Amino acid sequence: MKSIVLKAGREKSVLRRHPWLFSGAIERVLGEPAGGETVRVASARGEFLAYAAYSPQSQIRARIWSFDAAATIDASFMAAALRKAAAVRARMLPPATEAWRVVHGESDGLPGVVIDRYADTAVMQLSSAGAERWREAYAQAAVALGNVRRVYERSDLEVRRLEGLAARVGPVIGDEPADAISVREAAAHFLVDVRHGQKTGFFLDQRDNRAKVCRAARDREVLDVFSYTGGFALAALSGGASHVTAIDSAADALAAAHANLIASGLDASRITWIEADAFGELRRLCDRGQRFDLIVLDPPKFAPTEKHVARAARAYKDVNLWALRLLRPGGMLYTFSCSGGVDAALFQSIVAGAALDAGVNGRIIERLGAAADHPIALNFPEGEYLKGLVVQV
Ligand code: SAH
Repeated sequence: MKSIVLKAGREKSVLRRHPWLFSGAIERVLGEPAGGETVRVASARGEFLAYAAYSPQSQIRARIWSFDAAATIDASFMAAALRKAAAVRARMLPPATEAWRVVHGESDGLPGVVIDRYADTAVMQLSSAGAERWREAYAQAAVALGNVRRVYERSDLEVRRLEGLAARVGPVIGDEPADAISVREAAAHFLVDVRHGQKTGFFLDQRDNRAKVCRAARDREVLDVFSYTGGFALAALSGGASHVTAIDSAADALAAAHANLIASGLDASRITWIEADAFGELRRLCDRGQRFDLIVLDPPKFAPTEKHVARAARAYKDVNLWALRLLRPGGMLYTFSCSGGVDAALFQSIVAGAALDAGVNGRIIERLGAAADHPIALNFPEGEYLKGLVVQV
C-alpha cells in the first residue's frame, strides 16, 4: 500500500484521533497515490497510525478512515459505517420522521460523506476525493438499508473545488426525482426539491428547534427571518401562533413555503410573506412600530471559515440588534448561527453586544444546536457548526 510519512511530532493530532491531516504535517509521500486512494499513515519513526484517503490537491491532504491497523478499507468497510450510522438514527429520531440525515461526514467516521433521506429518496453529497472514490459503495449501501427507491447525488458543494473535483448532480440509482418530494415533519408537510434546494433540499439540522418554536408559539405574534421554505413559520403556525410574518430574499423559497403551507392545511390568512432583504426589512418594520412576541433568526452562513469572521460578526450583530428591538417586553428571540468560523462563545458575545446596543436586557433561556442526526464527534470539534440561543427580553 502507498503511504504518507508524517514529520516528527506531527502524529499528535492523529493520536488524538483527529480525522484530518494537513499538508504541512507530511514529510514524504511514497508511491504517488491517486486522488482518493487509500494510504497508510506512518509516524516519522515508521509506526502505523491510520489508514486515510489521499487528497493530492487539498490543504487537507488526507482524511482518516480508520485508526485500526487490522481494518480493511473497502466497500464493505463503507457499508458497515453506513449501517452503524443508520442504526443510531433509528433510536434517536422522533417517531414517523420522514426526512433525516443518515450519515454526517467525519462525525460518523466517513469524512466528506453526507447522506440524507427524504421519504424513499436518499440524497448523497460527497465533498472529498476519498468520498468520491467510494461513491458506488455508498449508493448501494444506502439502498441496502431498506425502503430506498432511488439515490440522487447533490455533490455540488464549493469545497469540492479545493479537492480538484467537478460538481456532479444527478441520479445514481433509480430515476430522476420529482420536483417535490413530500415529507412530514411534526404537523407540517414540506415539499422538498432535492435537485435544486439548498443543502440537499431542506434544513434537517433545525428539526428539533422547529419543534421548540412550535411549542412556544401558541397565541404569539411570530416573525420568521430567513424563512427559506417556511420551516419555522409553519412550525409556529401549527403550534397556534396568532399570526406569522416570514421574510426571505428568495422569491422561489417563499413560493415553496406557501405551497408547504397549503400542503399542511394551515390557515393562509394567518401568514404574511415578505420578499425582502432582511437587513433593511427589520429596520423598516421597527420604524413602522411593528412588534412581535417571538422572533426566529436563522441566517445563511455568514462566515464559512475564520477569515470571514469579522464581517460576519457585524452582520450577526446587526440582525440581532434589530430583532431585539422588534420584540415586545417578555418576548423571545430564537437566534442561530451556522457559521463554522463563529464558535458558541463568540456568537453569545455578539448577541450580548447586540442587546447592549439595542438597549434591552436579555437572558439566555436555552442553548440550542443541531438535531441528533447531526452528531459532533468528540475528536472533531469542527463538526459543531449550528448554535442557537433562546433569549428572553
Ligand atoms: N430557517 C430555514 C433555513 C434558512 S436558510 C429553515 O428552517 O428551513 C437561509 C435563508 O436565508 C435562505 O432561504 C436565503 O434565501 C435567505 N437569505 C439569505 N440572505 C438573505 C437576506 N439578506 N435577506 C433575507 N433572506 C436572506
